[in-house]
Amino acid sequence: MPYDNDNIFAMILRGELPCIKLYEDDHTLSFMDIMPQADGHALIISKEPAETLHDLSPEGAAACIQTTQKIARAIEAALDVPGTLIMQLNGEGAGQTVPHVHFHVVPTSIGQLRST
Ligand code: 5GP
Repeated sequence: MPYDNDNIFAMILRGELPCIKLYEDDHTLSFMDIMPQADGHALIISKEPAETLHDLSPEGAAACIQTTQKIARAIEAALDVPGTLIMQLNGEGAGQTVPHVHFHVVPTSIGQLRST
């Protein structure tokens, strides 16, 4: 399927929709999730017009991982949580709702995971 230029994250990248920005570099943007699964739930998106991880260039994929590392470390330090859950969904069948590649960083603990 061709990339949808009007998806929400493409609009955020173009500055047409607001976001609570955490970090930005030449290849990635990170901001807070609008419907967080836990306090501090952040998203990392690529600046490439790619729907899934499989559509990213190797450089774009590496940049997403590097930014995800930075954000996860920063969230763990800032919120003093024991760990973070990293999620990355590809395709509607997997539950992906926004068709622009993104990583979730969800502050969590083993206890929280076991109770869900
Ligand atoms: P997915 O289910 O595709 O892996 O995750 C999409 C995520 O994007 C969801 O966690 C959802 O809350 C978040 N989201 C959807 N629309 C917006 C928006 O307009 N702004 C922000 N910041 N997050 C959004």
